[in-house]
Amino acid sequence: MQNAAFRELELDYAYLAFRVPKELLKSAILGMAGLGIVGLNVTIPHKLEVMKYLDHIDEDALLIGAVNTVVNRDGELIGYNTDGIGAVEALERSGIQVKGKRIAILGAGGGSRAVAFKLAESARSITILNRTKSRAVALAKTLGKKRNVEVKADRLNDDTLATTLSEIDLLVNATSIGMWPNTGVSPIKKSLLPRGLTVFDIVYNPVQTQLLCDASEKDCRVVEGVDMLVYQGAAAFELWTGTRAPIEAMRRAVMDNLRRKIKS
Ligand code: NAP
Repeated sequence: MQNAAFRELELDYAYLAFRVPKELLKSAILGMAGLGIVGLNVTIPHKLEVMKYLDHIDEDALLIGAVNTVVNRDGELIGYNTDGIGAVEALERSGIQVKGKRIAILGAGGGSRAVAFKLAESARSITILNRTKSRAVALAKTLGKKRNVEVKADRLNDDTLATTLSEIDLLVNATSIGMWPNTGVSPIKKSLLPRGLTVFDIVYNPVQTQLLCDASEKDCRVVEGVDMLVYQGAAAFELWTGTRAPIEAMRRAVMDNLRRKIKS
């Protein structure tokens, strides 16, 4: 996605993947300044640990408690989290305004935290449902303290889903249920999905998750996790290059890659 964007705009950058063992994370990050690398993404399992080695951390990333993008600004290493921005862009560019919405988010892991803090900037209410109830409660508590939004939290099961789904405008799946290779499963029974609800699944592999297939069959409006993936990447691209990201070229690259994965 990033290399496709560089090619599209004829920018002289290259995006490479490095496997970094935990014990070498510090030298990898400090080496970035030494080598003059302009930016990088950080993924599992380094999103928390990396924060120790940065000079400055953006306020949203601090709240979320995880960094997925680092920018080297003249030797100063700055950490950001672009996942929440990606989620809001995916919704709003699909014509779904977040402002004033009653939202339920399933899951309380890293993806959920990033999405929840960003959506809570303008949503009316946020309900967190999670398999491990204590994580849902902890996330809702921090959200309630840091954002001006009504919050609720509960365990994720058929009863809490049935009650919650009757009270919301937008449902976000931020659990890993339905993600490759365990496709064909959904966090919600199809019979529980109300007709006409807006459903956003942040899982992007497969593009059409079981939840989104069920939601389409119930005439729900659906937003795909691929959109969030592209927009969080675009936000990182813009932080690194100061140039507007070529969204369509990035989306094409992601879709080609996912299609190749399905074939192989
Ligand atoms: P994570 O931190 O490991 O969190 C996983 C969440 O899923 C937890 O809330 C966990 O509940 C829940 N969960 C997992 N298996 C479950 C099951 N069988 N039943 C009920 N709940 C279950 O993972 P993450 O980083 O948040 O990622 C979650 C998904 O979002 C992944 O598919 C990831 O690829 C996707 N994602 C997409 C984007 C994007 O750009 N589209 C960005 C970030 C993440 P417990 O707390 O009970 O364990």
